[in-house]
Amino acid sequence: MTAVKTLADRIEDLLPQTQCTKCGYPACRPYAEAVANGDANYNQCPPGGAEGIARLAALLGKPVIPLNSANGVERPRPLAVIDEQLCIGCTLCMQACPVDAIVGAPKQMHTVIAELCTGCDLCVPPCPVDCIATPSVTGDATGWAAWSPSQADAARKRHDRRGARLARERDAAEARAAARRAASATPAQAAAPSAPATTSAAAVAPTADDAEAKKRAIIQAALERARQKKEEMAAKGQGPMNTDNVSADVQAQIDAAEARRRRLGVTGNGGDRNSNDNTPGAEPSPDPSKPR
Ligand code: SF4
Ligand code: SF4
Ligand code: SF4
Repeated sequence: MTAVKTLADRIEDLLPQTQCTKCGYPACRPYAEAVANGDANYNQCPPGGAEGIARLAALLGKPVIPLNSANGVERPRPLAVIDEQLCIGCTLCMQACPVDAIVGAPKQMHTVIAELCTGCDLCVPPCPVDCIATPSVTGDATGWAAWSPSQADAARKRHDRRGARLARERDAAEARAAARRAASATPAQAAAPSAPATTSAAAVAPTADDAEAKKRAIIQAALERARQKKEEMAAKGQGPMNTDNVSADVQAQIDAAEARRRRLGVTGNGGDRNSNDNTPGAEPSPDPSKPR
């Protein structure tokens, strides 16, 4: 028997599922629930744009209203493209991506799988070396004209799978921590009352502390390396891109030009295999100009 859909379910079915958080909620589902509860208005989703608002208005029996500009603007869909020569493999973008569209490993180059990218932009701010560009890839098409229902369904499934995976990883980490705590407590409990009980506990407690300290030191070292790299790039005139107050089109052009300039400076030769990676048809970077 098919479960009866709630209003939140039906609202969620109409959302683009880019999981971009521009509506002010952590994902599409919480926004759908907020609209259903009357806590959010139905004009807060820039990726859905005017058509998305019209769909929600029809479902809710309300008038079509303009997109709330506080949540952003309706625009052509961007695609994240990583400059592979600048990537330091910190994994921060991968952790930020809500649909697992980025692949890579610590200290290795990362790459966006173009077919899976929703254009949510969430990977851009965490990158410590500003090596992620987001050129538009849908020409003049915006909103639902730039994003199909099947793409939305796929993004929703990937987001749900990611949520389940993260929950499993959290549970496993908590189970490991509990096992460590239990293991460290046992010798202390087994110690003779006359023996200083602190001996066993003191011998074990620093292990957990050491692990935490080591983790903090690794993160600190990675941040320091990123900072130094940023400074070196700035000294060479290859500093971070100014992404403030420019349109998406202008930003895409700036990003493409900056990436080419940096690459020429980095490689020191004109025969770089990625010399036009942000332009259509380049390999091995994804082709950002190809509509999907
Ligand atoms: S696509 Fe973005 S703005 Fe629209 S509901 Fe989903 S998370 Fe919110
Ligand atoms: S790669 Fe970046 S822009 Fe694309 S879906 Fe992931 S976080 Fe969003
Ligand atoms: S955040 Fe930037 S530097 Fe770090 S892995 Fe991603 S693209 Fe590379």
